[in-house]
Amino acid sequence: SDVRIRELHRNDELEDLALSFNQMLDRMQRYIDQQKEFVSDVSHELRTPVAVIEGHLNMLERWGKDDPEILAESISASLQEADRMKHLIQEMLDLTRAEQINVNYPYEVTNVTEVLRREVSDMQLVHQDFKLQLDMEDLPEDAQIQINHGHLEQLLVILIDNGIKYSTNRKQINISAGVSGKMVMIMVQDFGEGISEEDQKKIFNRFYRVDKARTREKGGNGLGLSIAQKLVKSYNGKISVESAEGQGSQFKLEFPLLSTKEIAELAELKAQ
Ligand code: ADP
Repeated sequence: SDVRIRELHRNDELEDLALSFNQMLDRMQRYIDQQKEFVSDVSHELRTPVAVIEGHLNMLERWGKDDPEILAESISASLQEADRMKHLIQEMLDLTRAEQINVNYPYEVTNVTEVLRREVSDMQLVHQDFKLQLDMEDLPEDAQIQINHGHLEQLLVILIDNGIKYSTNRKQINISAGVSGKMVMIMVQDFGEGISEEDQKKIFNRFYRVDKARTREKGGNGLGLSIAQKLVKSYNGKISVESAEGQGSQFKLEFPLLSTKEIAELAELKAQ
């Protein structure tokens, strides 16, 4: 019966092995499907700027030689479209990189106060027609989170830029930060057009825009928030939105607050 028991065990092990093998195949299939979908999304998004440039080149070919106005207009429109494509390609690269972030920056620690202060004042210089208000009353000066500081900056830029892009009347963005329990919260609030509940669920999907034509006018391509979400997730954080149409939106970032002990441990790991 010893042999029999051993055989039974072996069967169990084989079954476990088959099961985990199946799960692995499933995961690979899902990954392949996602990649296919991405390529198809990207092709779709690139089609518009290419079509616009093609249209202008056709105009140039037909009338450009005789009509200096068409010549100037088509060249400037094509350049603008090429610039838009350049941005789109850069953001698509950012998006694919954001998926492997924590592989590249596993032990970086960033002081939230410092980055907020610097980034908000930098952005204030660029957007002088807006008032960027920073409130860090509830944030300890030395609050640290585990993130590459460039990525925290990128997150702030995405959220503040959106607030500015989709603001209607009141040209003000409130940025606030604080600690609640063991989490650091960073809020970016605007008083713009707001986002319907239906759309709030979709805006983090890549290439999703509430109003395609209007967003395009503002230079948006629907990638900012999906990059933001990928970044945040790779650092064990969370991003969420609260919004009321016609009143404005508030985006919230949450990251685990590092304890002194964790900071020391990370420093040690980084040094190794
Ligand atoms: P985009 O480059 O188009 O701004 P995002 O991924 O950053 O791409 O945002 C996706 C969509 O979500 C935007 O096209 C816009 O419709 C909506 N959105 C994002 N932020 C805001 C905001 N602060 N107020 C209103 N709508 C917003």
